[in-house]
Parts: sequence; C-alpha cells; structure tokens
Amino acid sequence: MLNTNIIYDSVIIGGGPAGLTAGIYCARAKMNTILFEKSTLGGQIAITDLVENYPGFPEGISGKQITNLFKAQAERFGLKIYKKNVISVENVINHKIIKIEDGLEIKTKTIILTMGAKMRTLNVPGEKEFLNRGVSYCATCDGALFEDMPIAVVGGGDSATQESLFLTRFASKVYLIHRRDQLRAKQYLQDKVFSNPKIEFVPNKVVKAIQGSDFVSSVLLEDVKTHEISTLSVDGIFIFIGMIPATEIVKDLIELDENGYIKVNQNMETSVPGIFAAGDCRSGQTGQVVVAAGEGCIAAMSAEKYIQNTE
Ligand code: NAP
Repeated sequence: MLNTNIIYDSVIIGGGPAGLTAGIYCARAKMNTILFEKSTLGGQIAITDLVENYPGFPEGISGKQITNLFKAQAERFGLKIYKKNVISVENVINHKIIKIEDGLEIKTKTIILTMGAKMRTLNVPGEKEFLNRGVSYCATCDGALFEDMPIAVVGGGDSATQESLFLTRFASKVYLIHRRDQLRAKQYLQDKVFSNPKIEFVPNKVVKAIQGSDFVSSVLLEDVKTHEISTLSVDGIFIFIGMIPATEIVKDLIELDENGYIKVNQNMETSVPGIFAAGDCRSGQTGQVVVAAGEGCIAAMSAEKYIQNTE
C-alpha cells in the first residue's frame, strides 16, 4: 500500500523499459522504490508485435512478453508498481513531492522520469485498425517485414527521410508522402533521398485513409492544392510525423529542449538535483528498447549516488 507518511528513496514515473529497468536497479540496491504507470506497462513496446533487436532473444520476443519479464524481474527485487496518474511534481527543501490523481501526496528523495513519448498519429480511418498489419511507427522494428514490397512513408522531417533511406534496404519502392513540396529534413538527408532510385517523393499530399482487407493494400491520398483524390498501392505505411514527449507534468520545473524533451547529462541528471530522466522522454533519445533500459540503469545508479552524497 502507498505510504504517505514516509519519504521513499525513489519514485519512478512511467513503466516502459527505462522505468522498469530503473526499478530493477533501485529495488535490487535495496532502495525503497515505487513506480507509477498511468496506463499499460511497457509504453511503446507494449504495442510492438515483435522485438527482434533486444540482446538475449535470438528468435525475437513480443513487446508484451518482454514487458512481463521486466516487470517480474523488478517485482522479484521488491519494486511496487501502482497504476496511477501522476499530476504534479514539486521540489521542496530536502525532498520532492509527487501528487497523484486521487489526491495523495507522496514524498521521495529522488525521482526518475521515464514517461516516454508517443508517436504523433495521422488520425485517419484505417490507422488504428491496421496497426501491426501494415501500419508501423518504427522502421528498425518492422522494416524487415516488407522485403521486396512497395511501402509508403509519411512525413518531411529528419525521421521520415532517415527512415525512408533505411527502409530501402528491404522495400522494393518507398513513396515518401509529404504535405508540402519542401522537406524540412537536413540537407544531407534530402540529398540522399533525392539521389536514391528506390525513393519517390510524393509532395503536396495528405493521407485521407489507409485501406486493405487483412493487411494494408493501399492509401488514399488528397492533393492539398487541387483536392484531387488518388489511390497508391502499397503493402505498408510508416508514419514519422513527429513525437509528443510526455513531459507536461515537469515543464515548469525542469529544463526541456525546444521540442519539449528533458535535458539530461551523461549521468541522466536533469536541471533539478535529485531528479533524473531516461528513455524516450529525454532529449536526444534513440527510441530503442536496449538504450532506454541502459539509461534506466544509469538513472537508478545516479539516484543511489545522490542519496549517498546528500545523507
Ligand atoms: P519533425 O521534425 O517535427 O517533422 C515532422 C514532419 O511531419 C514534418 O515534416 C511535418 O510537416 C510532418 N507532419 C506533422 N504533422 C503532420 C500531419 N498531421 N500530417 C502530415 N504530416 C505531418 O519530426 P521528426 O522528423 O520526428 O524529428 C524530430 C526531431 O528529431 C527533430 O529535431 C529532428 O532534427 C530530430 N532527428 C534528427 C535526426 C538526425 O539528425 N539524423 C534523425 C531523426 C530525428 P511540415 O514540415 O509541413 O511541418
């Protein structure tokens, strides 16, 4: 049960790979630690069908299974996990205060922020229905499933262009669909895209719907200037239209970068002593499970050191 009378050693906010790994390290170091997750444990990997690049699983492992293993390992060492929404974080003299949805106030010496980020979605018909059946938000995770198939990539930034280039290793053709006639990606990425024979730039188009029966077979496009509707036959669609970091609760407390991600140093320390951040909510994130887990470890070790140095 949550105890509002004590000061916890650490509170972890967010139960993805970074948070659960931080939990394993904190709990194993005998720090009195709790973790809050407002929805499903696992974060982005909970919706990933197959994780093929996490070391130790040569045949791959489902996102759900690996989350359950992280959770079981953390709980074995004594981490307590609560399904609660954190609504605010406050830094007071000697400790920090976390307010949760039901009005409870939790006191803690350190906080590890692992709230992650979510992919911005198109919000068009078919996007949710065909998730993992042709719709993907991760080229590294799913690119290999589209060997010799035509696919679409949506977006005009660094992610869309970089991932389009990566996807040419597998796909027979990559249609890069963008809502304007100019990409916003870095020039060197644009140069590579425009000189790659497998990539066809489809400017001034927005996706109106994603279609298919069991799997994606086409996307419905609208020209932003003429409003003409057309159909593009593809077996998959990768959407890279930016991420939304889940950093709202700390935006007035700690330093964020211009895109709203938490700034950290190599020890995962934020601008507020005793508050650490790891995984997809931190500036410079890679979106990879193994990196998030590694950063969760660093954050936990830094939190332990912080307590030792301040007591
Ligand atoms: P981003 O720079 O925010 O670009 C998002 C793209 O999606 C933009 O082209 C935008 O169009 C488009 N878009 C947004 N909402 C849309 C919608 N509803 N429908 C259709 N298109 C939509 O995001 P990002 O590419 O993920 O990059 C995020 C950050 O990570 C950037 O700072 C980037 O530099 C960095 N990053 C760097 C690298 C690298 O250096 N190699 C690689 C990946 C990411 P408009 O252009 O019309 O706004």
